[in-house]
Amino acid sequence: MEVTKTIEEVRNLVKAARSKGSKIGLVPTMGALHIGHISLIEAAFKDCDFIVVSIFVNPTQFGPGEDFEKYPRPLEADLKICRQAGVDVVFAPEPQQMYPMANLTWVTVEKLTEPLCGRSRPGHFRGVATVCAKLFNIVAPDAAYFGQKDAQQAIVIKRMVADLNMPLEIVVCPTVREPNGLAVSSRNQYLTARQKNEAANIYKSLQTCRRLIDAGTTETRQIISEMQKILQQIPSGQIEYVSIVDAETLESLEKIAGKVLAAVAVRIGTTRLIDNILVDAGK
Ligand code: AMP
Repeated sequence: MEVTKTIEEVRNLVKAARSKGSKIGLVPTMGALHIGHISLIEAAFKDCDFIVVSIFVNPTQFGPGEDFEKYPRPLEADLKICRQAGVDVVFAPEPQQMYPMANLTWVTVEKLTEPLCGRSRPGHFRGVATVCAKLFNIVAPDAAYFGQKDAQQAIVIKRMVADLNMPLEIVVCPTVREPNGLAVSSRNQYLTARQKNEAANIYKSLQTCRRLIDAGTTETRQIISEMQKILQQIPSGQIEYVSIVDAETLESLEKIAGKVLAAVAVRIGTTRLIDNILVDAGK
């Protein structure tokens, strides 16, 4: 496995692989790798021959007062995971490599970035879209792999790629969960054991949503109210949003119809957790 911090070197490695006819897969991450990230690497290996994992805690997607400084950066452990997973190249640049000058060019995806996480994290998706555009230009992969866990991010990136005719496929992979249902996340390590148990209510609320929709409930307000009751059982939890939106446009729905995304953000202590499910209500 090659590990590089430079754009020039990752480009050369990819160029050499491509000249041998390899299909290139990119898994963009912020490190602190876990089984969710590994599932993306495994998905990438199903379609591609040469896998690049990027590890970069992207400063431009963090707002003031967010956890940029505190975000875990266990590079050695991450490299071990990548080696075991058979990754070909880890691209782990320093911020100076990615942003050598004050950035003046940004990718802004409109509308889709306004609801859900966009409300409480202004500028977040601009940072995400910009860094992904940069990574796609640097690595030039045939496909890039994202997790359903960050549903809005995946939708935003797909739209950016479509709108800007970027020549790669975006593959969205299922959310990997702890045995208690909690979506695996690098931020779960901020939680105490007790908070982790309580955080299982996040997935419980989403399962309740699915059950109500499957049982024919169509009033979104009624479903959200049932979900809130479950989330209120998290003692140190503060609900940021509980939303049921159209799975493509992310617009709010009064009545359940078609493919919907139920999404939740909860702050437990100082840790912000998000999760979601897709439900196909038919019609
Ligand atoms: P992050 O390192 O948190 O920026 O995540 C990098 C990629 O891994 C993103 O596409 C995430 O959606 C994905 N990811 C994070 N957690 C999970 C999970 N539990 N299951 C599947 N994918 C995940």
